[in-house]
Formats: sequence, structure tokens, C-alpha cells
Amino acid sequence: MPIGYWESEHLLAPAHFTVIGGGIVGMSAALHFKATHPEVRVRLVERDVLGEGGTTRNAGFACFGGAGEWIDDLETLGTQRWLALIRQRAEGLRTLIELLGPSALGLEWSGGWELFAAPGIGRQATRRVLDAIPELNRLAQPVLSSILQDVHPAAADTPALALAPERAKDVGAHAAVHLCWEGMLHTGKMVSAFHKALRAADIQCLNGCTVNALTPAAGGGWTLDTQRGQLLSEKVAICTNGFARSILPDLEVKPAPNRVLVVTPKTMPPAGAYHIEDGYLYFRTLPGGQVLFGGGRHYGIGLPQFPAHDAEATAQWDRRLTADAEQWLGPIDAITHRWTGWLGVGSDREPIMGSTAPGLHHAVRMGGMGVAIGCGMGKALAEAIGPRMT
Ligand SMILES: Cc1cc2nc3c(=O)[nH]c(=O)nc-3n(C[C@H](O)[C@H](O)[C@H](O)COP(=O)(O)OP(=O)(O)OC[C@H]3O[C@@H](n4cnc5c(N)ncnc54)[C@H](O)[C@@H]3O)c2cc1C
Repeated sequence: MPIGYWESEHLLAPAHFTVIGGGIVGMSAALHFKATHPEVRVRLVERDVLGEGGTTRNAGFACFGGAGEWIDDLETLGTQRWLALIRQRAEGLRTLIELLGPSALGLEWSGGWELFAAPGIGRQATRRVLDAIPELNRLAQPVLSSILQDVHPAAADTPALALAPERAKDVGAHAAVHLCWEGMLHTGKMVSAFHKALRAADIQCLNGCTVNALTPAAGGGWTLDTQRGQLLSEKVAICTNGFARSILPDLEVKPAPNRVLVVTPKTMPPAGAYHIEDGYLYFRTLPGGQVLFGGGRHYGIGLPQFPAHDAEATAQWDRRLTADAEQWLGPIDAITHRWTGWLGVGSDREPIMGSTAPGLHHAVRMGGMGVAIGCGMGKALAEAIGPRMT
């Protein structure tokens, strides 16, 4: 659609900074950039009405990983890079709390529990994981405590990971590990709070606007090709996570689906957030006698990207998730919600942030931990972009 006079003169006039992708990372980048450059025009372009990645569809775990996942990451990343990742997650959650406030996020420091079905069952052998706890605590506790102790003082004197035999008994697990720094937030409230902050900061949000391509603009800066016509911007940040390769094909990131069910079990587990099989399965309690049960990426069932749909593959995924939910929760009376969300994943769990050309930046690949890490990545991206060019 060609852009008209009022649009080119004012409504869609060139921006100083445009963020592509309205998830946690993009919204945080826009807000942090505007906070330090209040005089400039900041625009956020999102292809869906609300967002079709993970930000509106996640489980709301404010989490840093559990013992099984940490052992995996220590092997692939080595100690220093793994510690830097834990630090990024903790700083990201802290940034989110400082930006929007704990009550606007619906944040509860519920604690999390990593559950093991039986010795030797699961992705990591249970004994190996449990034996590693003292060393993991020695490394991770000082990092988590130094960043989060004033927002979550109750956890400051507790080890990051602790065996929880009572909880194991309560949920019918062979073993359970308490994750004292973990919390749960209300994803819907978090996204609402972001939208309110964007309005208050006078950031222009164009929803339902897909960026199909980016090219250098004749007079400097970038031209964004959208179905609404061409938009100009001095600087651009790509925050489209799993979908980033549609604009930057060389980035090492790909979309990965994740399914979620909301179930009404006959008997509720104790309140809290639970991880199983190195975080590939998870569940958390919801108000009103319901449980959100999700994950299953390790089932290896591929789903085509929205709006394409594969009813049989989706049904197969739901059958496996339902069986896993029944294993952990017992009989289920009803399944009231089912949905798919999209993660951005790569060869390891580190996010990637950088710049591929002057004025063209990206922060993507948040994996399954974007609630904690995403807001901090957006802030770091805004800082990396620096001062205006003109
Ligand atoms: C089912 C599920 C459960 C999860 N649970 C948790 C959890 O409990 N805790 C946790 O920490 N993390 C969780 N995650 C991961 C977390 O939600 C993500 O890591 C995080 O939301 C990523 O944020 P983002 O801003 O990088 O990307 P996204 O939220 O994916 O946002 C990217 C946006 O870019 C838009 N976009 C894409 N291409 C274009 C284009 N060409 N033009 C314009 N817009 C475009 C998309 O519509 C999308 O809204 C979960 C994810 C899923 C799917």
C-alpha cells in the first residue's frame, strides 16, 4: 500500500530508531533506548496483533535453569561462559522487575522444583545430577545472590539447589531439588505492563505490520519494506528471535515450537513451578484449581510454522503431553486451553547479540529462558546502539 501525504509527513515519518519484533526483548530495547534519548522518534513494528513468538504464550517461569540443565550447559559452554549465562539471566530478571515492578508482573517468589521420576530415568541420570549439587551451588549461588538478594531477600541465605525429599513425596517423585531463587509471574499482566509503559513513553507501536526486507537507504539509515509501504529509520534493531533469519539469514537461530495445555487435575499439586527432564517438560500451578503443563520439544515432533497447521502432528504432541501430565498430576478432569508458542533456539543456550552493518543490530535466540534474560538483553542492545548518527 503506498504511503500518503499525512503518513509520510507525520504518521509514518522517518524514525531515529526502529525495533522489529514486539516481544520482551524488542519492547525492552525500545523503552530503554527512549529513556536515554527522550527527544528521538522510536518506533516498534510487530507483525501480529499481540505477538506470535514466546512473549504472550510462555509459562511465566522466572527461572534460571535447574541442575540437569546446568550440567548440560557446563559441558557445552565451560565454566566461565556458563556463569556468564546465569549472570545474564539474573540481571535480566532484575531489569524486568526494576522496569515494570513486581506487582505489575504478578510476580510471586514461589520457588521452583526439579523433579526426577526414578533413578536413571530422564535425560540426565538422577544420581549424577544429585552428586553435582554442591559444586553447582558453589559456583552459582554467589552470582544469583549478588544480583537478586535485595529483590528476593528470603533466598539470600539458602543454597540455590537443595534436596527436597518432602516435596518429592508430595508429588510422587523419586527425588526433588528445590530452586530457591525461582518465581512465577503472570505473563498476561507482564505484557500489559509493557504496553502501558510503551504508551507512557510515547513510543509508536505499529502492530499487524510485517517487515519483509531491510535495505540500506539512499541517504543513510535503513528502509524497511512492509505491507504498509516503505518505512525509514536511522537505526534498526532486529528482535524477532526464532524468526530472525527471514531478515538476517546468516544468524545461527531457528524457530522451535513448544506446546502448552491448561488442565484441571482431580488433585492439585502443592503450589509452585516444576521442571522435569532437564526443563523439556514443566508445570506450574494456576489459580482456580488448574495447572499449566507444557514443553515436549524433546518428543521430536515437528510442527509447521503458523499459520500453517498439521492437525495430526499437533494431536500426537497433545496425546504425549496429556500422558506426561497424567503421570505427574494423576487423573485429569478437563483440558481447557491448548496452544503453541515459538522459541528461538541454536546450538547452545547462549543468546546472540551484535551488529551486522552500521546502524543494524540484533538480539535473538532467548531459548526457553527469555522471561528472565529478555529484558536485560533489550537493555544491553539499547546501550550498544549508542548515540544518534545525525
Ligand atoms: C510455550 C512457551 C513457554 C515458555 N515458557 C517460558 C518460561 O516459563 N520462562 C521463560 O523464561 N521463558 C519461557 N519461554 C521462552 C520465552 O517466552 C521467550 O524466550 C521470550 O518470550 C522471547 O522473547 P523475544 O522478544 O526474543 O521474542 P518473541 O517473543 O518471539 O518476539 C518476537 C516477535 O517478533 C515478531 N516478528 C517476527 N518476524 C517479524 C517480522 N518480519 N516483522 C515484524 N515482526 C516480526 C513476532 O510476531 C514476535 O511477536 C517460553 C516460550 C514458549 C513458546
